[in-house]
Amino acid sequence: MEIKIIPCLNDNYSYLILDKNKINACVIDPSESEPIIEIIEKNKLNLNFILNTHHHYDHVGGNEKLKKKYNSKVVGFKDDKDRIPEIDILVENNQIWKENNFEAKVYHIPGHTTGHIAFHFFKEKKIFTGDTLFSLGCGKIFEGTYEQMFNSLNKIKKLPKDTEIYCGHEYTLQNANFCLANDQANLRLKEKIKKIKKQLENNLPSIPTTLADEIECNIFLKAKDLKSFSKLRDLKDNF
Ligand code: ZN
Ligand code: FE
Repeated sequence: MEIKIIPCLNDNYSYLILDKNKINACVIDPSESEPIIEIIEKNKLNLNFILNTHHHYDHVGGNEKLKKKYNSKVVGFKDDKDRIPEIDILVENNQIWKENNFEAKVYHIPGHTTGHIAFHFFKEKKIFTGDTLFSLGCGKIFEGTYEQMFNSLNKIKKLPKDTEIYCGHEYTLQNANFCLANDQANLRLKEKIKKIKKQLENNLPSIPTTLADEIECNIFLKAKDLKSFSKLRDLKDNF
């Protein structure tokens, strides 16, 4: 399985996943269609599936055009069937979604939206977390509760430590500054920030991150209870 990271809009990432034969592909959260089409054409791929983590426009904006052009099937959370454009396949919590050479477990991780899900390609140890877990941060709570977001993050935290995390936005550096302000003695965080800065200076994404890094460096994953998590989430909104 190969993953191509595709920058979209201002700071979004869409991800194109190629199967081992490099013929079939699925895309996670196509914000827009053009950058995805460019890579599909260049690599002569079949876009079989469009996987959406949640219904926000910057994650589903390319659904319609891509589906029309490639006859792809759109996969999304069952409760969001009325707000994910062009949805075909409804998935639910803890379901294993398996098609062709692709196999992922679905986790319902509400908080940012009520219907947010993650796709965990468990054999490859890669998870697509949308706007729930970012590198060094977490998503804003738009529809859910603090408790839901806290529980959702804890669910991800229990996965194997060497899981690679692919999130929806390049927010890492802003997030890093917030982590550092609240965790000044964290040497591993400081090392990670050095690495991130180097990547960004070279026009490379700071993604993927690893769960091990996030558990050690992401202040939201370090929050030990709901109360301290909620306080951090409020502070970040005004940072
Ligand atoms: Zn969103
Ligand atoms: Fe987003």
